[in-house]
Amino acid sequence: MADRYLSFTGTAPGRFLTRRLGLPQPAPLKRWSERETSLGGPLLQLTAGKSDLDLAPVLARTGIPAGTESGARTGAEKPAAAVLDATGVRDVGTLGEVHAALHPVLRSVAASGRVVVLGAPLDPADHHQSAAQQALEGFTRSLGKEIGRGRTVNLVRLTDADAAESTLRFLLSPKSAYVSGQVIGVGDGLGGGGVTAPGDWERPLAGRTALVTGAARGIGEAVAETLARDGAQVVVLDVPAAEADARRVAERLGGTALALDITAADAGERIMDALPAGLDVLIHNAGITRDRRLVNMPAERWSAVLEVNLASVLRTTDALLAGGALRPGGRIVATASIAGLAGNAGQTNYGASKAGVAGLVRSLAPRALAEHQVTVNAVAPGFIETKMTAAVPLFIREAGRRMNSLAQGGLPVDVAETTAWLAHPASGAVNGQVVRVCGQSLLGA
Ligand code: NAD
Repeated sequence: MADRYLSFTGTAPGRFLTRRLGLPQPAPLKRWSERETSLGGPLLQLTAGKSDLDLAPVLARTGIPAGTESGARTGAEKPAAAVLDATGVRDVGTLGEVHAALHPVLRSVAASGRVVVLGAPLDPADHHQSAAQQALEGFTRSLGKEIGRGRTVNLVRLTDADAAESTLRFLLSPKSAYVSGQVIGVGDGLGGGGVTAPGDWERPLAGRTALVTGAARGIGEAVAETLARDGAQVVVLDVPAAEADARRVAERLGGTALALDITAADAGERIMDALPAGLDVLIHNAGITRDRRLVNMPAERWSAVLEVNLASVLRTTDALLAGGALRPGGRIVATASIAGLAGNAGQTNYGASKAGVAGLVRSLAPRALAEHQVTVNAVAPGFIETKMTAAVPLFIREAGRRMNSLAQGGLPVDVAETTAWLAHPASGAVNGQVVRVCGQSLLGA
């Protein structure tokens, strides 16, 4: 379903009218394409507090040219991104340096540009440091809500810049167009795994096998496409009724199709039969909705959603890990939803299942890493333009589209790019994270 409002506000009369009426002003987002692989430069490196982080070499490796503060202050340069290293902010006084660093240059950051704030893990033995570092979260989320023009603001907590290279490359690229207002921990006490820099950053998944559930259409299809672009051999799993579509997707991507209802008790065994050599990337994307308010909800609608969205995710994950099917360095990415984080009327079943996914990820992540060298993370999409959301009544759909900092819905590819970053061989230090792909939806935290 095309977003006609976004097209309308892109025209001169549309911009004029919607401004006069004080209506939302969505900006067209710059997304990754083969022709436009980067945001365009330059990148501004800023610091608040005394930092020990060795950031410059990692930023240099992104290939984005370095900008100058003076150029940005005078408006002579339009940085595509500003990275503020605030890991050294240990007290409220030093927070002033956050303001001092960003205030003079913010106006010059280009449309669809990025602000990435780097923070340190909270120090439980130092409440002044914790207060100042937690303050960065409120700062990041507030700036995300006011910055506008398709620009995003995210916070990464880290101790080692090298371990965060894949994360910084993702956030500083057009691949993260719909990710804003997020706090991402890299190696943050959940036991960050080994980081393997790929031989080729353009095809990081070359030689790896990725299985995507529910990949015959929608977000799953986009995920399969993006992982194939990154070099993976993809297995497109979907229900037998969608086999023809699954085959079509697999053929286009040079992969294979697997017709299987993921709720089958032996789904794990059947995946292992289909992939005797094992797999590297497991994406739990299949999901359904059966909306009704709880008072009107028959038990079958409740159990169908819990079964597909949560029970089968637990069951197949357990079977594949126990069977040693996920090779060391493996990645599991499950699909949560903002409905599971914020709650949504009519979706007690769906909200419960998706919150369950977040619980599974946070609990399993450290153990899966210690025992199998496999990371476990989740993406939590917000309003994404798919068949699922096209079926939503018009006014609710319009509200869903506009009620986020970017004032528009995301595209399946936005979820796919986020998944590909989590599946990346260099993302071993990203573990137990639930990352929202929601344009900083106003729903939930
Ligand atoms: P979709 O309905 O377009 O596609 C889901 C796919 O999963 C379908 O191909 C379907 O056949 C498959 N599937 C369903 N049950 C299955 C089963 N038992 N075994 C195997 N395959 C099964 O949905 P979508 O919008 O692409 O959503 C994909 C995921 O993202 C879901 O987990 C959904 O809950 C989640 N999500 C979507 C949105 C959104 O705005 N579209 C928002 C938040 C979360």
